[in-house]
Formats: sequence, structure tokens, C-alpha cells
Amino acid sequence: MRAIRENGWVEVISGSMFSGKTEELLRRLRRAEIAGQEVVAFTPAVDDRYGQAELGSHAGHTWEATVVDNTAEGVRSIPDRADGASVVAIDEANFFPEELVAVANELATAGRRVIVSGTDQTYRGEPFEPLGQLMATAEYVDKLRAICAVCGEPATRNQRLVDGEPAHVDEPTIVVGAEESYEARCRSCHEVRTD
Ligand SMILES: [Zn+2]
Repeated sequence: MRAIRENGWVEVISGSMFSGKTEELLRRLRRAEIAGQEVVAFTPAVDDRYGQAELGSHAGHTWEATVVDNTAEGVRSIPDRADGASVVAIDEANFFPEELVAVANELATAGRRVIVSGTDQTYRGEPFEPLGQLMATAEYVDKLRAICAVCGEPATRNQRLVDGEPAHVDEPTIVVGAEESYEARCRSCHEVRTD
């Protein structure tokens, strides 16, 4: 008979916005909880969130999560805060700095199951680190697709809109609290303004 598995590993759930990443993360966390495993979840301090927050999916399901500063120091505090949990979840990983790659791998090497969720492309359609490096070093990667808001084909891209128009290529990658909206779009319908 096979011995109890002591290895940890990293799972990445990625894809565009509105592709159901958080819903899939919550589904996996519920399965682990039903099996009696200790689960902890972390989410970055974007906006003005501190302390505890809820991972919320668009479908309305939630999970309590600890808010961590989206700085190198904040990311390095995750292993201590994860304490004895066997399952460590990290949502909205694209808002964390690249130190998350080392921390996720460190947790997996220490025997934890690490589940990371986050979008893998910027609004320009470029890799959104640290997701690129996480997807490369993970044992399991699921890339989910949304449905293009324009044509209905499978969508992998994040369309940023400012006043209803495609955002300019020179805007910052992360804008907090700005007046803008997003749609999931396919490659053909995705637009970035360059003029
Ligand atoms: Zn399309």
C-alpha cells in the first residue's frame, strides 16, 4: 500500500477575469474542508482592506481570508501566518510581487498544498507576473476561459475600458480605485489604444 503522501505541491488557477477562477478556488477549498484538512486563505491588501476579508466569487460564494500587504515583506509573512495549515490558498496573486514565487515553492517544499489563483495577463495581453513564473514552476496549472463579451468566443484577455473606450497602452498595469471597467474578450476583439 502506498504511504501517506508527504509531498507538497503548487496548483495554479489562472485565466482572464470572469473565467471563474475564484469560484474554482472556493470549490477546492470546500473539498479540502470536507476532508477535515486545515485550510488558510490569503488575499492582497488592494483598496483599503485590512485584517480579515472574504474571498468572493461572482457566483456569491465566499471564504474568510487574511489580508496581506502586497509588498515583499507582506508576502514573506505568509508562511508564518499559515502556521499548521496543510492547504494554503492565495487569491488575486497578480497583485502580489514576485517574492510570491519563492514563498509558494517554499511552502510546497515544506509539505503544503498551495493553491494560487490570479489572472495571467495584463490589460495589454502581456504576462502578468508573478503568474507566469508560478505557472512555470507549479505541478498543476488550470487556465480557465471566460466568454468574449463582444463575439461569444472563448476569452483569455482582460479588456480595460475607460469611459467605454479601450485603455491606452501607456497606462499603469495596476490601477486602484480608478474609474474604469473590464470585460473578458478573445484575441480578435481585445483592443489596446496606441495613438
Ligand atoms: Zn471576441
